[in-house]
Amino acid sequence: MPTFAIYTSGCRLNQADTALLADALQTRGYKPLSWGNVADLLIVNSCAVTGVASRKNRQAVHAARRLAPDAFIVLMGCDAVAETSSWAENPDVDLVISNPKPDSFPDLLPSPLQRNSSPKLVRTTPLPESFTISGTGLYPERTRANLKIQEGCDFYCSYCIVPYTRGPARSRQLNDILREAEILLERGHLELVLSGVNIATYQNSSCDLPALIERLLCLGDHFRIRLGSTEPGLCLDRLVDIMAAYPKRICRFLHLPVQYGEDSILRRMKRHYDCRTYEQAVLHAHKRIPGLCLGSDIIVGFPGETEENFQTCRAFVERIPFGLLHVFPYSPRPGTPAASMTGRPSSADTRRRAADLRDLAAQKYAAFADSQLGQTLPVLLETSSPSPQGWSDNYLKVRISSKLPLQANTIVFPTITACKANRIVHGRI
Ligand code: SF4
Repeated sequence: MPTFAIYTSGCRLNQADTALLADALQTRGYKPLSWGNVADLLIVNSCAVTGVASRKNRQAVHAARRLAPDAFIVLMGCDAVAETSSWAENPDVDLVISNPKPDSFPDLLPSPLQRNSSPKLVRTTPLPESFTISGTGLYPERTRANLKIQEGCDFYCSYCIVPYTRGPARSRQLNDILREAEILLERGHLELVLSGVNIATYQNSSCDLPALIERLLCLGDHFRIRLGSTEPGLCLDRLVDIMAAYPKRICRFLHLPVQYGEDSILRRMKRHYDCRTYEQAVLHAHKRIPGLCLGSDIIVGFPGETEENFQTCRAFVERIPFGLLHVFPYSPRPGTPAASMTGRPSSADTRRRAADLRDLAAQKYAAFADSQLGQTLPVLLETSSPSPQGWSDNYLKVRISSKLPLQANTIVFPTITACKANRIVHGRI
């Protein structure tokens, strides 16, 4: 039986694509191995969102080739589109596949798996406006499963490569989502994470994202739904209403990437809201959903950023009750409008500002975790006794003490007793 292993970088959508790929291969008789093992087929499902991500793809391919000189290596995902010509010359790779990921991936492999003298390029056809996916994502750990509901983006933020690598926004057909969700639930998953590039644009069969969530909730009452990254605006108010209406079923976590906290930079980024609108929206969500963990991303060092812009952004971040904030130094992506903008701050200023915001983010995380002391939270366990640990619905990593034996992939209800370093809290049952 041929073996395969997949390295995945980047977002949840890439993870969902990987799980679907693993399912397609397993159905065709391939045996999955974890990355780092010598396998007959090694796949790098790449991300291209930053220069660092692109570098990591190259390192993964190079390390794979050193580990397994005879393996058949496939490079796919966003970097296959963003850097096609350089991958087409990479002697370590045998096959380069563009986005969207083909539904019939195993059909593109030679039989038997045999190395090429130079990489073969496969260009896939764009997805239609509403699409289906055959198969069901394979998640060996059986706790959370990503459920792909959407692809692509029409927003063209000036720094972002994704609309070029994944194409325009398209939604998966409602019935096909429900089909995969039912199978994932039958397999025992207790959390479905709705995944896409811009899930708030979901639209199919007269269903938008809030309506889709209501349809999914009808599949049973034993599981919970988590939202992947959601763009501010769009259907946010209705989304908040439905989260407030089903606090036990929809995880109290909202990832709303703000990207910056000052309006002139937001305009240069071509974001479609201003700081005031964002602030009002998240404060409303925070009030409506007690215990909500608000997640976000911030980019520092964007072209044109002055010290004054940064201080305004910092004050904005201080005001907003973020529970989970990721800070990224700006990394130009060739082919995006921002890559040719002038006025980037020096690397030293960018590093200092990123470090400053990361400190602030750590303080905000600690304040959020502290606010949960004494609360009883639903935790989906990823590991069993003697070291039971899992994630609360509001995205705290909880280590649990209990005299009872606790099983992975169950939802338990510890009371939070302490907040520790490394983003871990302790709970007791
Ligand atoms: S909303 Fe903007 S940042 Fe997000 S994927 Fe679309 S273009 Fe990129």
